[in-house]
Amino acid sequence: MKPDSEAAGVFGGVSLVRVELGARGYDILIAPGLLAKAGELAAKVVPAPGRAFIITNPVIAGLYGGDAERSLRAAGFTVTTLEVPAGERAKTLAAAGKIYGRLLELGADRRSMVVALGGGVIGDLAGFIAATYMRGIPYIQLPTTLLAQVDSSVGGKTAVDHALGKNIIGVFYQPRLVVIDPRVLGTLPPRELRTGLSEVIKYALISGEPLLSRVRAALPLDLGRAEGTGSEGTGSGRAIKQVFIARPDTNAAAALAGIIADCCRYKAKVVAEDECDLGRRAVLNYGHTIGHAIEVAAGYRRYNHGEAVAVGMIAAARIARARGWLNEADVLLHEELISAAGLPLTMAKVAAAEVFSNLKYDKKREEGSDRMVLLKGPGRPVVSSVEPNLIKKTIAGLSGGAK
Ligand code: NAD
Ligand code: ZN
Repeated sequence: MKPDSEAAGVFGGVSLVRVELGARGYDILIAPGLLAKAGELAAKVVPAPGRAFIITNPVIAGLYGGDAERSLRAAGFTVTTLEVPAGERAKTLAAAGKIYGRLLELGADRRSMVVALGGGVIGDLAGFIAATYMRGIPYIQLPTTLLAQVDSSVGGKTAVDHALGKNIIGVFYQPRLVVIDPRVLGTLPPRELRTGLSEVIKYALISGEPLLSRVRAALPLDLGRAEGTGSEGTGSGRAIKQVFIARPDTNAAAALAGIIADCCRYKAKVVAEDECDLGRRAVLNYGHTIGHAIEVAAGYRRYNHGEAVAVGMIAAARIARARGWLNEADVLLHEELISAAGLPLTMAKVAAAEVFSNLKYDKKREEGSDRMVLLKGPGRPVVSSVEPNLIKKTIAGLSGGAK
């Protein structure tokens, strides 16, 4: 495949996005059914197919482990699957330590390859293991959640959590390849699907056209209301699943694959400009500064990541509106997209004061100023200092009565 960005496009139904990072550059390939070709594609990014260690969890292994193993074996790899427990609790140095032990016992060496089969948790953990085992061995990403397909599998951020903070111990280490099969989203729980849609909406708002129109057209815009989800977005998300997933050969499924490719293309461009997150990459945090504070206040449960980011984007839109950067129609656009995805518009389940106090610990804060990403219009993100009082007022306005 051609490495230049001119080559980015669709080949035989497969979308190709190149992450331009010189010698560390790699392809992201997106198409329904592509998991079956993962082995063949992986064989092209290593000198010779050798040993492949799939890192996954029991849930994903049960659903897609067989497909991934078969595909890698057919391409000449010797495959071993290593499992960690499901969920964020697997993203620890202790879990990594156990896997290092298994890799050593099994004789993994510098020619071995790690295969991350799972959501963002598995991707971050497996990437971290690949980055550190024997000072770094190749790895590929086979993301299975929407969040991982549009966000965490791209860009080479790997990490484990520390008792004192999430993603604190980590390293930038790029994969050799990302293979995205949107069909695997068919088994994703609706709440996880919605969390990914929150990131999709983020990309639509920060990148503007043409993604914005594509997302607007693809989202079932009456869903939030039709299912009676109200502003808290407690609906099942079944309709999203039906539109996008249950009919994989329809235009809706093709539209989703196209949207995933667009999100990856935007992130790839930003990452190519700022691999180590020292400047431009910050725009990817749209909705995340206040979103993160909500997530913490919610104990990562009452609101999950995508739900908290959705409310964070509403907050950012209102702040930009107060500044005269966005107009009322822009704010309504935020609300329309977010409620169409069945995501919450307000944060009635957490106290505004707690959210505000959590902001003080945002690791992205610089020198005491409350810097966050705001839009000057759809597709025009800027990083700006915001007066604490305006943030406080905005958060209070979103708390739906909770103090
Ligand atoms: P996750 O990895 O925990 O997956 C969510 C749940 O879905 C898990 O229980 C998993 O077992 C299950 N699952 C995964 N794929 C499935 C499928 N196809 N069918 C059925 N069930 C499936 O959650 P996530 O939202 O994908 O990732 C969150 C993590 O990603 C966090 O740890 C976060 O820090 C990290 N992250 C990293 C980056 C980055 O740039 N590296 C960016 C964003 C988030
Ligand atoms: Zn996010």
